[in-house]
Amino acid sequence: MHLIELYKSVQGESSFAGLPCIFVRLAGCNLRCAWCDSEYTFGGGKPFTQDGIVAQIEALAPCRLVEFTGGEPMLQARELLPLMDRLLAESYTLMIETSGERPLADVPKAVHKIVDVKCPGSGSAANSFRTENLDALTKRDEVKFVVSDRADYEFARDFIREHALEQKAGQILLSPAFQRVPSPLRTADNMALDPRKLVEWMLEDGLPARLSLQIHKFIWEPQKKGV
Ligand code: SF4
Repeated sequence: MHLIELYKSVQGESSFAGLPCIFVRLAGCNLRCAWCDSEYTFGGGKPFTQDGIVAQIEALAPCRLVEFTGGEPMLQARELLPLMDRLLAESYTLMIETSGERPLADVPKAVHKIVDVKCPGSGSAANSFRTENLDALTKRDEVKFVVSDRADYEFARDFIREHALEQKAGQILLSPAFQRVPSPLRTADNMALDPRKLVEWMLEDGLPARLSLQIHKFIWEPQKKGV
């Protein structure tokens, strides 16, 4: 597998936010979201065997929560899925952050999938979500929308309603996009959409969703890597 970085921090978003977590960031992505904060994952990465990655995870004990992220981790599904099976057998709690552009049916059901459905403001990545992946969702899973403006919000709202998403996933997350080039300040001024505005829209529409802030961008400087 090609690995960009592996480190321990706190989970920054999803219903696991705030918990200690080991991040396994895999190389490569087939999308190009306009607000991407992980462009350094697009190329390169170092090759590691399954044993090599497990050894790095074990070295970060006692943490037992592991998130696979990227880039798009499902681009390395052939190696990733057996690694997931091995870690689940060793009683780790696993998460995967994915765009849902690749098929998700083969991801072990015990893995918590955080599926990022791309809104129009993501640019060329918009409409990349594979609709049949809705059938792979369980109540363990969370569907996230990164929202940069009102058009994105309305896309997310209509998608949630059209697919009765609250019946398919355990959580629906609306996350305000960050500025493409944020300042080093750890404030909401770095967001492309004022979270207060997003909350007002959610409340007006009675949306069955949770506001999700990327808390790592408030704990550390927004552009800091490896946290
Ligand atoms: S899917 Fe993720 S890593 Fe890929 S371009 Fe979009 S935000 Fe960046």
